[in-house]
Amino acid sequence: MASKHVVILGAGPAGLTAAYELNRHGVPLTVLEKDPRFVGGLARTVERDGYRFDIGGHRFFSKSQEIEDLWTEMMGEQLRSCARISRIYYRQKYFDYPLKPVNALRNLGPIESMRCLLSYAWARMHPVKNPRSLEDWVRNQFGYRLFSIFFKTYTEKVWGISTSELSADWAAQRIKGLSLMETIRHAVVPARFQPHERGAVIKTLIDRFRYPRLGPGQLWEVVRDKLVAGGRRIELGAEVTSIRHSGGMIRSVAIQGASGRQVIEGTDFISTLPIRELIERCDPPLPTPVREAAAKLKYRDFLTVAVVVKRDSLFPDNWIYIHDPAVKVGRIQNFKNWSPDMVPDQRATCLGLEYFCFEGDGLWTSSDEELVDLGRRELATLGICRPEEVAWGATVRVQKAYPVYDDQYREHVAVVREYLERALPNLHLVGRNGMHHYNNQDHSMMTALLAARNIATGTTYDVWKVNSDAEYHEEARASDREIGGRHVPMRIDEAA
Ligand SMILES: Cc1cc2nc3c(=O)[nH]c(=O)nc-3n(C[C@H](O)[C@H](O)[C@H](O)COP(=O)(O)OP(=O)(O)OC[C@H]3O[C@@H](n4cnc5c(N)ncnc54)[C@H](O)[C@@H]3O)c2cc1C
Repeated sequence: MASKHVVILGAGPAGLTAAYELNRHGVPLTVLEKDPRFVGGLARTVERDGYRFDIGGHRFFSKSQEIEDLWTEMMGEQLRSCARISRIYYRQKYFDYPLKPVNALRNLGPIESMRCLLSYAWARMHPVKNPRSLEDWVRNQFGYRLFSIFFKTYTEKVWGISTSELSADWAAQRIKGLSLMETIRHAVVPARFQPHERGAVIKTLIDRFRYPRLGPGQLWEVVRDKLVAGGRRIELGAEVTSIRHSGGMIRSVAIQGASGRQVIEGTDFISTLPIRELIERCDPPLPTPVREAAAKLKYRDFLTVAVVVKRDSLFPDNWIYIHDPAVKVGRIQNFKNWSPDMVPDQRATCLGLEYFCFEGDGLWTSSDEELVDLGRRELATLGICRPEEVAWGATVRVQKAYPVYDDQYREHVAVVREYLERALPNLHLVGRNGMHHYNNQDHSMMTALLAARNIATGTTYDVWKVNSDAEYHEEARASDREIGGRHVPMRIDEAA
């Protein structure tokens, strides 16, 4: 392996998993990360005055046994097992989530419940054929009324786009197999009578998961430390500013860091950078159609307002979905309920108020003080605590937290992918924004594992065949089953 040197762009879950796997095979590597302090990317855990908080709470659950085993190997006993408690807040009521019929009926009241049932019956009798929008897809499964209470407002907060414009891909990936009947079955049938095979677990309904004692960032800090202890180079504060290619190969990348500009050469390059950014930074510029396709990929940004509240207990949930349109906050995490070690003083509670936004919009450009103040006011509006109980707060802005699935994203990704595979075969795209695939850590990690294995051992896995459950399906092309949104509803019809 002495002749190889793999340069990994980004030290998030995908980049560090690729590094971990390459290291296992003894392949020389360098990891370049623009963040000056944290590894873990979107799965990092930020720390202020001893309080630790995530960029959105990160559940560790995978249908892939290989990924579950890898987490155990990396973290051992530092991974706690957590029971999930999460509810939906809507019109001053807390609905259990996953939905429980008795609780939902009580909160909705008899008249609204009857309306929901009639609307569900109507949707089953008159389903939208070949649903392309998220609205039509969910309406088919739940009826319009339940859709508008339990999906519409929250989804529109998350994406900032009307549900009638969002592709059905998203719902099909995230809540596939779920319908009103499935939800009721899950709620009323005792666990021992429910399907036990791992593949039958529906993501949205998972009620136990693992979580590192000090948050997801702890896992990636452990992995970083193992790699550094093994002599591997992980450069923080190293932003990749250009990716240089010639003769049909990537030759080097330039980084801008604290010690100025450097050029790092390599034989293979694994990128977890957002595709749009990667293509923009190629030098010389790639052909116009490729640049135009990449430039059309869209993202949703995100910010967390973490507040420390002077109370030992506020609510039992790990997180609460805030569907209520009266406030801007979309979700509230209670990190102490994920792991007590996330707070240094058990008399206090640390909440993460999650706001979904676009870079440059009113929320994004608000000052930190304004955002903490907004959080304080919204907590009071929701009746969670009094404004004066908030001791202090901190904000973290996250660019490109979510790759957007609009009508054209598949075509744009395909243009980029086909060009790179043909013209620059030593550049390997993996991970979430790296493949413009809205997915959890397990998928990001699996794509990275396979890419690293291809480089280290000469296997020829097609990382685009890793599905959203982090399973590798040799028989179906990703473009048919995963990336191709048009085909996803067909899969649901087949399964129904
Ligand atoms: C709010 C939220 C909640 C989530 N909840 C869960 C959950 O419960 N469970 C779960 O498993 N997953 C969850 N995820 C998804 C998970 O965070 C991602 O799947 C995972 O982090 C993707 O890993 P990645 O390495 O592909 O990308 P990233 O985490 O985005 O890492 C990419 C890295 O590249 C770096 N980078 C970018 N540009 C450059 C550059 N030019 N030069 C150098 N470095 C650069 C970034 O700083 C970053 O560190 C959640 C995500 C979000 C946003």
